[in-house]
Amino acid sequence: MEQRFETRAVAAGRPEEVGAPLNAPLVPASNFVLGGETAYSRDDGTPTWAGLEAVVGALEDADAVAFASGMAAIAAVLDQLAVGSRIVWPDDCYQGVAGLIAEGEQLGRWTSVRLPVEDTAAWCDAVGSADLVWLESPSNPLLSVADVREILAASRPDGGLVAIDNTLAGPLGQQPLDLGVDVAVQSATKHLGGHSDLLSGVVTTRRTDLAADLRRHRELHGATPGALEAYLATRGVRTYPLRAAAAARSAAELAQRLAAHPRVERVRYPGLPSHPTHDVATRHLTSFGSVISFDVEGGADHADEVCRRLRLIRHATSFGAVESTIERRAAVPGQEHLPPGLLRLSVGIEHVEDLWTDLDGAL
Ligand SMILES: *Cc1c(COP(=O)(O)O)cnc(C)c1O
Repeated sequence: MEQRFETRAVAAGRPEEVGAPLNAPLVPASNFVLGGETAYSRDDGTPTWAGLEAVVGALEDADAVAFASGMAAIAAVLDQLAVGSRIVWPDDCYQGVAGLIAEGEQLGRWTSVRLPVEDTAAWCDAVGSADLVWLESPSNPLLSVADVREILAASRPDGGLVAIDNTLAGPLGQQPLDLGVDVAVQSATKHLGGHSDLLSGVVTTRRTDLAADLRRHRELHGATPGALEAYLATRGVRTYPLRAAAAARSAAELAQRLAAHPRVERVRYPGLPSHPTHDVATRHLTSFGSVISFDVEGGADHADEVCRRLRLIRHATSFGAVESTIERRAAVPGQEHLPPGLLRLSVGIEHVEDLWTDLDGAL
């Protein structure tokens, strides 16, 4: 019988030979004695990268290609496009991706259309002529969930690529390759690493041609994983299912309490029936995740004050780590269009009552 997700996270990507170390070793090598399968790590990889790719691939029953960061993985996918391609992409997405697509458009590499995540009808109209459908779902930071199945049904049967940035849900929260997308990317800096101590990115796909093209891109462009980072990311994956499940339980509880709090104007969490894409979320996600966005009464000043008053929850960017963090997103360059008082809370694995005491006190 096929192993379950939690088991694969622990068991995959380990050396098999008698006498081998249990964990894929940390190998900081650039070159190897010639005559074997590996000569130079940028071309051929290392046992450390292979361990990370094996376990992340096992989580999605796919081929995984590891990169130096989430952005390196995303850039490698965008670089698959021929000059003059057309991209359809979401209005709410990671600011780095927005910068990269805008820059490519300015350079004349492609044209693009940006659509609201929730407007499935507009996506279905637009994707028929797209060379790349770029999804980010749930989106960051408004946590809108795209109707990936509907959009896929309207997309080109061949010739076009459908890609998703699955960083926010992670493979525990959404299995995009099962939904039918060609390629999923994630920043392993977030949930998979889980300890705010590395940068890493992984692309997963079941198309062997695409996996080979992405490996070749990594070889030629050189955005290779660091040895220590790949080792730490692999170690992070071992506990990822446990961490993510615990954090999501706490997030669901905190989202409800925040929604009832007199100083909170609005909570955006896909697990709450009040979220505009709650229905789509229940049909696509296997976990509503550990990120909550909420608007505090009083706008930017009050939101900044809340960040200053919190003691346990750290004032820091990013998400998916063991420690809870919070950030006012409109203060981030490129995100000025967001509601000024919107805070993005990444729930960690501390005790939920300690997190609530901190939040309630600061509010
Ligand atoms: C963090 C993040 C990225 C970029 O990943 P890095 O590892 O920082 O390069 C891309 N997409 C989303 C949704 C992210 O949260």
